[in-house]
Amino acid sequence: MKTRDRLRIAMQKSGRLTEPALDVLKRCGLTFRQSRDKLFCFGEGEPVDLLLVRDDDIPGLIEQGVCDLGIVGRNVLDEFSLTTGVDGAPLKEWRPLGFGRCRLSVAVPQEMAYENATSLAGQRIATSYPGLLGKWLRDAGVDAQVVTLAGSVEIAPKLGTADAICDLVQSGGTLVANQLREVDVLLESEAVLAGPATLPTDERGDMLELLFKRLDGVIQVSESRLLLLQTSRGNLEAVTRLLPGGPQPTLLPVAGQPDQLMLQALCAGEVSWRQLEEIKKAGAREMFVLPVEKMLA
Ligand code: ATP
Ligand code: ZN
Repeated sequence: MKTRDRLRIAMQKSGRLTEPALDVLKRCGLTFRQSRDKLFCFGEGEPVDLLLVRDDDIPGLIEQGVCDLGIVGRNVLDEFSLTTGVDGAPLKEWRPLGFGRCRLSVAVPQEMAYENATSLAGQRIATSYPGLLGKWLRDAGVDAQVVTLAGSVEIAPKLGTADAICDLVQSGGTLVANQLREVDVLLESEAVLAGPATLPTDERGDMLELLFKRLDGVIQVSESRLLLLQTSRGNLEAVTRLLPGGPQPTLLPVAGQPDQLMLQALCAGEVSWRQLEEIKKAGAREMFVLPVEKMLA
């Protein structure tokens, strides 16, 4: 079989992960020409194409080698590894992407008593994640009946087809609307860049390496802030001590004011008003917090 020389990434065709996934790829400098059937998008600048599919199909497509990488929820990836994918080469979570955050949780009717997993012994639990739930129950040594449903898991207790559920939760609104109470978290999930454990070493390997480097920059900058301020040399130590974590600040002279310095610091996360006020009290002025757009270490 002729190997592909272009990289192919699978992502969700239409759903919660679609927009943020396209956005992160765009910030990595990848743009795509959308084809009419919208299943395949040809990459314009770099040799990277997209395959738009249902999220549940993504791990299988990677395992079969149809795609090199996929953007998919950790929940889908782990479920695949525990069920469908057990015979194939293991898949690897190469990078967490920081969006599509949710958790896979156990929820019970408001009135049901719950202390820990053993409270579920002998109960029927509805879920679309039989692999993850089964493993969690086994690890806890609990014998319960897993009822696998494709969707609308949250209404199973009301319908009498289950006593409890195990489903994805983000805000918890759906649970409240169905008189359910979240009692245990099985998995903290977010979208990840998944791929085979061993990546190709041909031409695609170079592109992969480039993509990972850009992605690391994109992930890092999305959380980074550049802090600019002025301070006198006398206050420099006090101001520097209060700076939020990050590499050493850069100091620049201020023209015409030999006692003043301009300080530039890259901060690993948000800089709050409170932190700014503290730094100001220590002697800083002319403070700016700027988002970082691109970074290449
Ligand atoms: P598809 O048609 O691709 O199968 P889907 O209905 O399975 O779509 P979505 O509801 O779009 O998928 O969710 C995709 C992913 O978004 C989930 O697998 C999960 O990782 C993440 N997610 C974040 N918050 C939630 C939530 N509140 N409910 C469900 N999924 C969530
Ligand atoms: Zn799905």
